[in-house]
Amino acid sequence: MSRSHDLFSAAQRHIPGGVNSPVRAFRGVGGDPLFFESATGAYVTDADGKRYIDYVGSWGPMILGHAHPEIIAAVTERVAKGLSFGAPTELETLMADKVCELVPSMDLVRMTSSGTEATMSALRVARGYTGRDKVIKFEGNYHGHVDSLLVKAGSGMLTLGEPSSPGVPAALAELTITLAYNDIEQVRQTFDEIGDQIACVIVEPVAGNMNCIPPVQGFLDGLRELCDQHGAVLIFDEVMTGFRVARGGAQERYGVTPDLTALGKIIGGGMPVGAFGGKRAIMEQVSPLGPIYQAGTLSGNPIAMTAGLKTLELISEPGFHDRVAAQTERLTQGMEERARAAGIPLTTNHSGAMFGIFFTDAGPVTDYAGATACDQDTFRRFFHAMLEEGVYLAPSAFEAGFVSGAHGDDEISATLDAAEKTFQALAG
Ligand code: PMP
Repeated sequence: MSRSHDLFSAAQRHIPGGVNSPVRAFRGVGGDPLFFESATGAYVTDADGKRYIDYVGSWGPMILGHAHPEIIAAVTERVAKGLSFGAPTELETLMADKVCELVPSMDLVRMTSSGTEATMSALRVARGYTGRDKVIKFEGNYHGHVDSLLVKAGSGMLTLGEPSSPGVPAALAELTITLAYNDIEQVRQTFDEIGDQIACVIVEPVAGNMNCIPPVQGFLDGLRELCDQHGAVLIFDEVMTGFRVARGGAQERYGVTPDLTALGKIIGGGMPVGAFGGKRAIMEQVSPLGPIYQAGTLSGNPIAMTAGLKTLELISEPGFHDRVAAQTERLTQGMEERARAAGIPLTTNHSGAMFGIFFTDAGPVTDYAGATACDQDTFRRFFHAMLEEGVYLAPSAFEAGFVSGAHGDDEISATLDAAEKTFQALAG
């Protein structure tokens, strides 16, 4: 038996399910999860010493690849000066300035320690600012484990087949209206009926928690228009898409400006970080400037700010996002070609440096119904065969894949060779 297997058994003694976040448990694909020992560039190494080309990237943060030497050096130097002060540091100002430069819709930004805190706080601010309680979200979108947003959610909830969670008070869930992603008519109808009660619309501008589903033409624009007409706050949850689908996130790539933005993952360079911010008039309502309370003992932590700042600096280099997007496209096109040659029905989506692979013969996947109708059994077999070949994909058919700046031609070619072999085996 493998060391990962032994470690997983030991982990289950005192950790629920042996993991500190559900999707890690491989429930979506079966089998024991791999325990990792180390990672560098595009590769992760498991506890048994086997190396894999990694398309999870710690679920998004590692857009520069793992253990980037400049980030490790910056963090190492900073660590020697102390881990946390609970008082302001200049690093926080540098971070806020950088974020507001890269994401121009943000005038003010507040740091948090996770993406969940970022969306939770953005929601509170939207409700406090508008004086309204109802929230529109979309089926299959995941915004962290925020009570109000754990209704028909994606990611682990979709993988485990439990899209809503016990423990969320019914009184709260009733305030959440869940509509179909990419269906602007449903949103219009809802606004027509109860527009004056809607505090905000929160959306993943590219859905990445029901596999990868980009917005259809007119969807994000339509949300902007309806929120403006009805005085609701538009929140883009760019925890996953921020600094990934373009330097300025999905709002830059698709040319639609939200009122508030939630950020996470890349902004911390692999450390536990999130952020939320947006229009000055709204963010001025946040404590201590305004009455809406939000806080965090470790928010703006100096080590996390150092890792995040260095990451944002490095990805700001001209051409970085074009290069990673081109590799992503090479990967998805290559997969489609090889699947077609083997007679395996497959379609892919991608936006910037994120992608999705769908086993279906129904054509492009643009919504929740399309994503959940795909052949999950084939995905499971594909996942395990790729793992065998040394390629680590997200262990669920309902997660996006991520390419990093460390994925060069060699890694993409090796992945496509592995896929070709796997498709032929699946077809046979
Ligand atoms: N929003 C989105 C779009 C996410 O993908 C995630 C996490 N995958 C979150 C929010 C929550 O972030 P965290 O896990 O850091 O709380």
